[in-house]
Amino acid sequence: MTAPPETETTADVCVVGGGPAGLTLALLLLRSGLRVTVVEKSASLDREYRGEILQPGGLALLDQLGVLAPAEARGGHRLDRFQLVERGRALLDIDYTRLPGPYPRLLSLPQQHVLAELQSRCEEFEDFRLLAGCRVTALVEKDGAVRGAVAEGRGGRHTVRAAATVGADGRFSKVRRLAGIPANRDDVFDFDVLWFKLPGTGVPGRAVRVFRDGGRPVLAYPSYPDTVQLGWTLPHRGYAGLAQRGLAYVQEEIRRAVPEYADAVGERITALTDLTLLDVFAGRAREWVRDGLVLIGDAAHTHSPLGAQGINLAIQDAALLHPVLVAAVRAGDVTAGRLRAYAEPRGRDIDQVMRIQTMQARAMLSQGRVARVVRPRLASLVQHTPIGAKLTARIAFGNPAAQVRSELFTPAPQPPP
Ligand SMILES: Cc1cc2nc3c(=O)[nH]c(=O)nc-3n(C[C@H](O)[C@H](O)[C@H](O)COP(=O)(O)OP(=O)(O)OC[C@H]3O[C@@H](n4cnc5c(N)ncnc54)[C@H](O)[C@@H]3O)c2cc1C
Repeated sequence: MTAPPETETTADVCVVGGGPAGLTLALLLLRSGLRVTVVEKSASLDREYRGEILQPGGLALLDQLGVLAPAEARGGHRLDRFQLVERGRALLDIDYTRLPGPYPRLLSLPQQHVLAELQSRCEEFEDFRLLAGCRVTALVEKDGAVRGAVAEGRGGRHTVRAAATVGADGRFSKVRRLAGIPANRDDVFDFDVLWFKLPGTGVPGRAVRVFRDGGRPVLAYPSYPDTVQLGWTLPHRGYAGLAQRGLAYVQEEIRRAVPEYADAVGERITALTDLTLLDVFAGRAREWVRDGLVLIGDAAHTHSPLGAQGINLAIQDAALLHPVLVAAVRAGDVTAGRLRAYAEPRGRDIDQVMRIQTMQARAMLSQGRVARVVRPRLASLVQHTPIGAKLTARIAFGNPAAQVRSELFTPAPQPPP
């Protein structure tokens, strides 16, 4: 038997994971004149995605990178409001059109549209290499620092040698595990989510909603092209018990929660495998930087889906890491000490987001009498006080320091006169 072929390449930065965090960072680094190799385990963009809602802060960064308009042109839905609807009444109604700035909206956009545009912009650079269909299985280490990664898959075994390696490989990050970095798992949320789409039901208005009509709360938003995406919340770790009660019981519970989709639930959910279970937890890697290594996006911090923060934070991580990493690579000094200029302030941002999400979950999703009494007061606080306005701005915009630092970009090569 012949051994699979082996290749070896050199880059300034090896990015593991071609999701929102990895491809945004890759594009920023390429535009700053660095050589970047991205290793992505999926062979194509035609894969399963979850998050679709972009907040104004994420939209601004994508626009500054020139990818928002073409990604949206592939199809998406602009949304105006975030609502908590209890027994038919909007208890909380955040009107995004009243927010300042050029992006006063939420955007429901298939992740594939964003990634396709980011990737095609990266492909304009000669110094970009994409190892698609390759899974990272080992890190290259030298003198105690990470200096690249080994990937296996399409085309054999590839060794990427790089001054810096970025783990942008999602909530179950292999890079994090290979580096021996433990991740704290915090079961602060008392719910998990069963996700499903009801195609052909028409686009349900211009809002992301949490319905509390009957039974357990449900998250709902329009999903391109003509679908409603629903997330039915169930007690944390309660799926096995629920599944034992069978499909008819689950259908009935979902119908009770969203009576307006009762018919579609019966037609579209014909097996429990039509539902995707999301184990909801808050996670945080104990370290984000080592010599030669940095973790970003879900690999560094994982969030509850409530508040649509994940993609936005991932893109903002990339924008905030960009100047630090460019300076470190240019100085030939990619040490943990230097990378902390990114990790320490960003860690404080993420702690704040985690606190806000825990509060949101308690206020919107918890059951019980006390919650029922407190909920309208909290909703009013969020809508009518300066503290509430500050919270909304934080959720919508993230850290205002996360901007594309275009002054670090190298001039694009000009065509000969
Ligand atoms: C059900 C659900 C709903 C959500 N809804 C929203 C929402 O509405 N809005 C929002 O902002 N966020 C949402 N999120 C969160 C959002 O999807 C994530 O936070 C976001 O995708 C994180 O981006 P990332 O680039 O860090 O990681 P990912 O998107 O997970 O990308 C990681 C990439 O790494 C690749 N990879 C993994 N292992 C390897 C390996 N060993 N070698 C090479 N490549 C590898 C993966 O294939 C993947 O492409 C949701 C999440 C879930 C689960």
